[in-house]
Amino acid sequence: MKFSEQKPTKSLHLVSLGCTKNLVDSEIMLGKLKDYEIIDDASMADVIIVNTCGFIDSAKEESINTILNLHDERKDESVLVMAGCLSERYKEELQKELPEIDIFTGVGDYDKIDQLVNEKRSAFTDEVFLLNEQNDRVITGSSYHAYIKLSEGCNQACSFCAIPAFKGKLHSRTLESLIKEVKNLIKSGYTDFSFVSQDSSSFLRDLGINNGLEQLVEQVSIIEGIKTARILYLYPSTTELSLIEKIKKSNIFENYFDMPLQHISSNVLKIMKRGKGVDKLKELMDAMKNVPNSFVRSTFIVGHPGETQEDFEELCKYLSEYKFDRANVFSYSDEEGTSAYDRLDKVPQDIIDARAEILGEIISKITQESLEKEVGKTFDVYIDGESQEHEYLLSARKTTWAPDIDGEIYINDNELFEEENQEQLQFGKIYTVRTTELVGDKLLATVIK
Ligand code: SF4
Repeated sequence: MKFSEQKPTKSLHLVSLGCTKNLVDSEIMLGKLKDYEIIDDASMADVIIVNTCGFIDSAKEESINTILNLHDERKDESVLVMAGCLSERYKEELQKELPEIDIFTGVGDYDKIDQLVNEKRSAFTDEVFLLNEQNDRVITGSSYHAYIKLSEGCNQACSFCAIPAFKGKLHSRTLESLIKEVKNLIKSGYTDFSFVSQDSSSFLRDLGINNGLEQLVEQVSIIEGIKTARILYLYPSTTELSLIEKIKKSNIFENYFDMPLQHISSNVLKIMKRGKGVDKLKELMDAMKNVPNSFVRSTFIVGHPGETQEDFEELCKYLSEYKFDRANVFSYSDEEGTSAYDRLDKVPQDIIDARAEILGEIISKITQESLEKEVGKTFDVYIDGESQEHEYLLSARKTTWAPDIDGEIYINDNELFEEENQEQLQFGKIYTVRTTELVGDKLLATVIK
């Protein structure tokens, strides 16, 4: 990616780990380092940045392994930077234990990364960085889709979660700033947006506004040039039925509902300090399911301290009956600094692993059922480009689905252009397809208009 007329003299290799919120911060760093050529070969890079994740054990391990492998690969005179959540959470320990790393920074200095690299110094500003529309981002991974970060931090106190400890309290962007950023990106050709944060349904509550997301849906839906949008990471106790209605009525926001429930047993939800009550929760989930052509995604934790076999069976029963379109299961990770960490009723690891496997099988089954229901259907997709699978198969995503997490559709035929003119299909554009069959977890489809 070349930015200035003159060929950049220095090169940069950046690895963004963890969630989409971290990816947005990585894109901010790329925007600040525009004088660098971004390269894939870390062994050739002048600067290597790893934007780490510090959420749970497996993510922490991946971050450490990634940066140590890059250290082994890198050239002598290069600069190795550890940024992000893991670096923030364990700043003292890591600076002592990892002398290999040249620059340490956390979650407060993404917009100063150019200075830190130029001055080869570490920094941990107290305040958590939150972008605004003036920040220059280099959108990665797509020519038409961009993630939009609603806020930083979180005011919830989920028993298993360390994020508020290093990302701080909820800090929302203003609606004006978000609207301006979306409008700027539309000028650059982006048409599809996913709104993300730690707790999206609490958007603007730190500014005393309780229906912030509904206002967002309303105002974004009238922006000229936008085609599609969706919201991820809703939180149960701050999601209202009125938001579901607002999304249903919008001709821009997909009927996409991503709300991590983490559990369904009232005993475990109480221990997890995740309010709202099971009846209200099920009412909300049913309302999402009852929206025409809705797509419902969630996330669950098994093996949380205090989870009994009955609680676990209740969770399995609920997932099998509710039939989420997509879901993730995480094994409980014992995170110091969280309230769950201090509990004595921990679940043995072998039982945690067994429960994760069982729930994983249920999730594979309901995901397959959701895909099977799509066979023979007609709907809109974005065509992303050639599939990894085969050059004659194009890769597409249903416009409802979020990128990278909800699946891929293979386009193997089209009724628009004669075979020899298939290349006229434009990537990043919306087409209507009819699905013909399901092969494994991939739908095959024909472009019809
Ligand atoms: S909502 Fe709960 S799980 Fe999510 S970041 Fe906040 S405290 Fe953590």
